[in-house]
Amino acid sequence: MNTKIRQKVRRGMLTVSLLLLPVTLYYFSPALSLQGAAAGVATGSVLVFAGLFLSALFLGRAFCGWACPLGGLQEHTARLQGRPVARRRIRWIKYLVWGPWFLMLVYLILQAGGFRRVQFSYQTWHGISAADPQGLVILLAVAALFFLPAVLVGRRASCHTLCWVAPFLIAGRAVRNFLAWPALRLSGQARTCRRCGICTGACPMSIDVQESLRAGGLETTDCILCGSCADACPSGSLRLVFHEGRPQ
Ligand code: SF4
Ligand code: SF4
Repeated sequence: MNTKIRQKVRRGMLTVSLLLLPVTLYYFSPALSLQGAAAGVATGSVLVFAGLFLSALFLGRAFCGWACPLGGLQEHTARLQGRPVARRRIRWIKYLVWGPWFLMLVYLILQAGGFRRVQFSYQTWHGISAADPQGLVILLAVAALFFLPAVLVGRRASCHTLCWVAPFLIAGRAVRNFLAWPALRLSGQARTCRRCGICTGACPMSIDVQESLRAGGLETTDCILCGSCADACPSGSLRLVFHEGRPQ
């Protein structure tokens, strides 16, 4: 696919996903996952988290780069304020959020004796999440949680610090990297690189792509496989590829 078209398609997908957030919000809800687990119900959000873990076995964090509604919100916000973040210093914070929540989820599932039924549209109105005033308040609160850090800290700040979905994708990617089966990944050729830094400037996750390529380590838990770096590179030194092998 033409590189400019690919990024247009990607941004279009993120925008559509963002516009659908009033419908899909509860399918990403950590709170409803706990509430359902306590009642022995496998909610839509638990199934979505499990599905995203499975997707990461082959697609890494591509969901974040191509389909996440809150990723879309942050990428639109980056047009207002797009400074990079010091990702290595802040990315551990999301595990402080995710770890206790995940342990609580497991505890509640065990205490309830496992899931007794599946209710994909749990607590929605005919499948729609923000269908009442309470849902609208939750929608605005979640949007603020992702919008404000993007404005105050920088690019996709909440992807690094807050997102409770990212650890599922990172875990799936870790399994894939251990077993090294075919999967989507970023590949590069340092010998053709002109060291212009355009790739680094294009990365929505604030990765120093130029330096990573020079050092021979493009694989990182922060990469959302969006292809922005590859599509901006004037020398064609970077590519999104689908093949097997250990991370580069
Ligand atoms: S390194 Fe490239 S593919 Fe990965 S997040 Fe940054 S721009 Fe996207
Ligand atoms: S954009 Fe391409 S040529 Fe420029 S630094 Fe990045 S990899 Fe090298």
